[in-house]
Amino acid sequence: MTGGLRKDARVDDRDAGAATHSARVLVVEDEVRLAALVSKHLTDMNLSVRVEHHGSAGLEVALSDPFDLIILDVVLPGLDGFAICRELRRRNMTVPILMLSARGVTEDRVRGLDSGADDYLTKPFEFAELSARVRALLRRQTPAAVLTLTVGDLVLDPVGRSVQRGPRRVDLTQKEFALLEYLMRNVDQVLTRAMIGERVWDFTWDRMTNVIDVYVNHLRRKLEDAGEPRMIHAVRGVGYVLRPAEAADDRHT
Ligand code: CA
Repeated sequence: MTGGLRKDARVDDRDAGAATHSARVLVVEDEVRLAALVSKHLTDMNLSVRVEHHGSAGLEVALSDPFDLIILDVVLPGLDGFAICRELRRRNMTVPILMLSARGVTEDRVRGLDSGADDYLTKPFEFAELSARVRALLRRQTPAAVLTLTVGDLVLDPVGRSVQRGPRRVDLTQKEFALLEYLMRNVDQVLTRAMIGERVWDFTWDRMTNVIDVYVNHLRRKLEDAGEPRMIHAVRGVGYVLRPAEAADDRHT
């Protein structure tokens, strides 16, 4: 049932350093081999990793040591992932929690989010997907929801609902705005279509892929049409990333 992680999963970890350098991650997963693979992968991302294989021990460690992210398997000996999550939230611990489940049961997903998890990943998953979600969760802790977001010459005001590129005001629809805000809050982080679909549209990605691509194209046209350098980049087979425009050779015609 582990099925685990596909061998063809490939990850580009070049940008893992800065934002997540010394972040500490607790992994509570009883499947020893999977736990070791996840641990190795996170370590390769320059994260400091602690692994627990038992639910109760996992909770104990989560309560006694500070972590920047906790990855919780659902089915665990001792105490299941939902229970651990609920207990941490009951104690007002705001650490981001990513839950792992063996199957894509919608009820499990809902239960996970209801118990206070921030995100949910179904096994088997690809390392690229795990990395993207881990980075997004580590990022999410920093910016306050009300602060103006600035990436290069792009400025988004989440409260005033306005967007400027340089001196130019950019008018966006509600969904375009939500999409851009999500990209800007995760600058330099590759976001998968699954993540974008869930966050911006609240739907599973397989039904959303086309819609996401269409919206990204609209957004690009509005942001880059006046000849400004490109900021939203497609990452083949994965999703999209927003980067500050700097290099002149990014300029498209
Ligand atoms: Ca398990």
